[in-house]
Amino acid sequence: MSSAAADCIFCRIVAGEIPATVVRRSPDAVAFRDLDPRAPTHVLVIPSAHVGAVRDATGPEGEALLGRLLQFAAEVATELGLDAGGYRLVTNTGPDAGQSVAHLHLHLLGGRRMSWPPG
Ligand code: 5GP
Ligand code: ZN
Repeated sequence: MSSAAADCIFCRIVAGEIPATVVRRSPDAVAFRDLDPRAPTHVLVIPSAHVGAVRDATGPEGEALLGRLLQFAAEVATELGLDAGGYRLVTNTGPDAGQSVAHLHLHLLGGRRMSWPPG
């Protein structure tokens, strides 16, 4: 993990260099609206420090980060009124999953009924 990666879109959003609609911040995470929403609520929840994907959050530090990130995502879901209807948290890793931004992010999706399994 490092504080920022050159040419990483999400590090630039954290730094305020690219505008984003921020929903909530924590000391080490940011939640902001996805540019291309796939559900009535579609928010990306990311660590402020650069981590490539969930598999890169290793060791005790990574374990704590992932725990805090999930808790933070659940707080965001509550804040956005998703608890009653429910929501989905997804993290894509690598090409088969369709990861297009190499900075760990949880997709928080809600506001409509979803199918399973994902396509
Ligand atoms: P992935 O495909 O890696 O799982 O998800 C990346 C997500 O980031 C996509 O849903 C895409 O719409 C979103 N995204 C890409 N660039 C930007 C951006 O500059 N701003 C925001 N808010 N979302 C972005
Ligand atoms: Zn980054």
